[in-house]
Amino acid sequence: MEQPCRVCTAFKDWTKQEKKKQRVSNIHTNDNINETKYTKDDANSSTPTLPPDCPPDVEQLGRSTWTFLHTMAAYYPEVPSYAQQRSMKTFLSTFSEFYPCNFCAEHLREEMKSKPPKVESRWALGKWLCEMHNIVNEKLGKNIFDCSKIDERWKDGPKDGRCD
Ligand SMILES: Cc1cc2nc3c(=O)[nH]c(=O)nc-3n(C[C@H](O)[C@H](O)[C@H](O)COP(=O)(O)OP(=O)(O)OC[C@H]3O[C@@H](n4cnc5c(N)ncnc54)[C@H](O)[C@@H]3O)c2cc1C
Repeated sequence: MEQPCRVCTAFKDWTKQEKKKQRVSNIHTNDNINETKYTKDDANSSTPTLPPDCPPDVEQLGRSTWTFLHTMAAYYPEVPSYAQQRSMKTFLSTFSEFYPCNFCAEHLREEMKSKPPKVESRWALGKWLCEMHNIVNEKLGKNIFDCSKIDERWKDGPKDGRCD
């Protein structure tokens, strides 16, 4: 059977799939079917977390990647040269080609067709990226982020100084 794609699957769902596969295989090989039934309790058992030395799942990869992308945008030049603007466009296009979660990358490429990257300034890039991230947030039912707060979140830290 073909392996499910790790970086396209959340670990909690991945382990559920693996458990289910195990049970299905046990049902076929075990005499005592009652012992190997997949129960509702198993599906609702506490959410497993990914050990730190394992390959990333879709969520860990996503979090790390957004951290990199937003931080990169936060430190992009205020007034980039044309060469820098071209490099950033190339980078984002290449990124959307090779992002390892294939359906995430496909969705990003689709969105980038109608909303091409804004690379003319630091603020424009940060806002564009924030909006792209919000499109994914909306798709996944997550909260929409207030894009006026990108510098606070990714560069300067909160005003109360708790990150200083
Ligand atoms: C390009 C890309 C496409 C993806 N597509 C999919 C997909 O199709 N399906 C899927 O299941 N997962 C996808 N992911 C992963 C998904 O977006 C999340 O990273 C993952 O679900 C973990 O979510 P999280 O709640 O930890 O926070 P994340 O969404 O990873 O966000 C990390 C932190 O960024 C901050 N943040 C949130 N929104 C914004 C914003 N709009 N602007 C600036 N900062 C923000 C918050 O402080 C948040 O804690 C994608 C990731 C990337 C990088």
